[in-house]
Amino acid sequence: MAISTSRETGARAAGALRLPSVGLVDARDRPLRDLRISVTDRCNFRCVYCMPRSVFGKDYAFLDRDELLSFEEIERISRIAVAHGVRKLRLTGGEPLLRRGIEELISRLAALRTPEGGKVEIALTTNGSALAIKAQALKDAGLDRLTVSVDTLDDALFQRMNDVRFPVTRVLEGIEAAHEAGIGPIKINMVVKRGLNDHEIEPMAAFFKATPYTLRFIEYMDVGTSNGWDLDEVVPAAEIVERIGALFPLEPLGARAAGETAKRWQYADGSGEIGIISSVTNTFCGTCNRARISTEGRLFTCLFATEGHDLRALLRGGASDAELSRAMAGIWHARDDRYSEIRSELTPELRAARPRIEMSYIGG
Ligand code: SAM
Ligand code: SF4
Ligand code: SF4
Repeated sequence: MAISTSRETGARAAGALRLPSVGLVDARDRPLRDLRISVTDRCNFRCVYCMPRSVFGKDYAFLDRDELLSFEEIERISRIAVAHGVRKLRLTGGEPLLRRGIEELISRLAALRTPEGGKVEIALTTNGSALAIKAQALKDAGLDRLTVSVDTLDDALFQRMNDVRFPVTRVLEGIEAAHEAGIGPIKINMVVKRGLNDHEIEPMAAFFKATPYTLRFIEYMDVGTSNGWDLDEVVPAAEIVERIGALFPLEPLGARAAGETAKRWQYADGSGEIGIISSVTNTFCGTCNRARISTEGRLFTCLFATEGHDLRALLRGGASDAELSRAMAGIWHARDDRYSEIRSELTPELRAARPRIEMSYIGG
């Protein structure tokens, strides 16, 4: 494994866990700031665009418990990632609230400190089904930010999309419970698929406008191989802005932080903002500072990477913190990914032939 860290000024001299927080950059000069950790590959939903029942049916072989990274292992990887510059840790999956004891993991991660002694932001992405029960415990454990996926407010469609007949009202109750528990900011993610839920763009905007929650629209992406993605099903960000703007005038907002995935727009009447994640029509690979750890401990440097680096083998093979740190630095240093930028250059055949990892395994 490559361990060259020549851009990591003074890193080795400073010791593995006292690396300069801005030094580590990849082959395209992008720093490492955001680590997304998939804590389970299981989910209680079968969203048609993510874990369709035809693929993730009764016989689907999910990972065994001992294949998952333990909380100790996740904490160790996170600590080293923070020393390398990570400032946000996002727990995802599958459905992260299904992982037993998730609160304990959150409190371990919330205790991590940057080399400068600062706090690391702890975020979680959830389908919201268990939020009403868990919100207070998540807050008490130290959860800072929350993203809840809501693809429609039409209950019949919501139940059809999650394919387990889960009612949207229970998710909305969960969002309120999280807000009352003091978790914030809370963002709402809506994946837009043409012909399925794109007629819900305007009702969703109207509903979440002037609430404490920021609605973000996500272009439907070609992650994994089970959702049968087709470019015609993508509703371009520009169309979403135009449609909402026709009802509620919008003004563009600047990015708050480098590497932000969502383009922000504010309502001209001052009643909040929306975000649009245009992963297909207006890519943002140039500032992408995200790495992902899969459920079984593989480090992926891109959502569309075809292979991950097996950190679990290092962890369970007795690697020291310094060895792990050098391995992670080497992987990031060699990173050259920019799939969304080259997607349009690929023919549909080439795109389909390219191996891709499922979102529920790699973590969305
Ligand atoms: N189960 C949790 C949830 O649904 O929020 C966390 C994991 S889920 C894989 C993370 C996010 O990925 C969700 O907001 C989901 O809507 C989004 N997602 C899944 N498949 C997608 C696709 N093909 N294109 C765009 N977003 C997708
Ligand atoms: Fe589960 Fe989230 Fe995927 Fe839906 S999007 S199937 S809730 S992991
Ligand atoms: Fe980052 Fe890969 Fe997405 Fe580009 S395609 S923004 S490199 S995760």
